[in-house]
Amino acid sequence: MADGSLFVVSAPAGCGKDTILNELFKKTDAAGYAVSATTRAPREGEVDGVHYCFLTRPEFEEKIKSGEVLEYTDYCGNYYGTLRKSVRDVLDSGKDAILKIEVEGAMNIKKQFPEAVLVFILPPSWEILEKRLRDRGTETEDKIIERTRQARAEVAFAKNYDYLIVNDDLSAAVDDLLSILKAERLRRVNNAALLQKFDG
Ligand code: 5GP
Repeated sequence: MADGSLFVVSAPAGCGKDTILNELFKKTDAAGYAVSATTRAPREGEVDGVHYCFLTRPEFEEKIKSGEVLEYTDYCGNYYGTLRKSVRDVLDSGKDAILKIEVEGAMNIKKQFPEAVLVFILPPSWEILEKRLRDRGTETEDKIIERTRQARAEVAFAKNYDYLIVNDDLSAAVDDLLSILKAERLRRVNNAALLQKFDG
């Protein structure tokens, strides 16, 4: 069996990455979500330990100190970070581990794990992205402006990613991501045991 890989999925807010990942996990059980920690408040419907580990700032800082956080960032006034244990738990179960993190975290992960596969999700256009942010209705106007500015800064990092997906059709975007997972599973370096079978 192929070994699981580490995938990083990034996208500006409003590009549909949560929806794409939710659909992906319905379609495959070969990949698992590595739950991040954050100090932001839970949104409606978000469950502690499933969507995020929701921590206070002192709790988060304690985890940084004790080396439990692989990378972290201060994004829009809140800490977000990848928990070493979340990644290890998914990989140990033989699945691909998927991190849903912003661009600086992604660069940081790539530095620590050069074999990590980086996937960036783009909106069809800036106009559509701004409309999606407004329609979501979960943010104040100030936050929408801040997130729109942030989106432009984030897309500037897309050139450092391995794969690009444009989300103008949900099921096509999910299929694109599934294809990327499958292609990585077929890579020779992820299939060392398979070739051993044919030695001699
Ligand atoms: P949201 O508040 O919308 O859930 O997330 C805000 C941003 O933080 C998103 O771009 C999300 O991908 C990013 N994020 C979530 N978890 C992590 C993490 O563990 N590390 C980093 N660097 N970014 C994260």
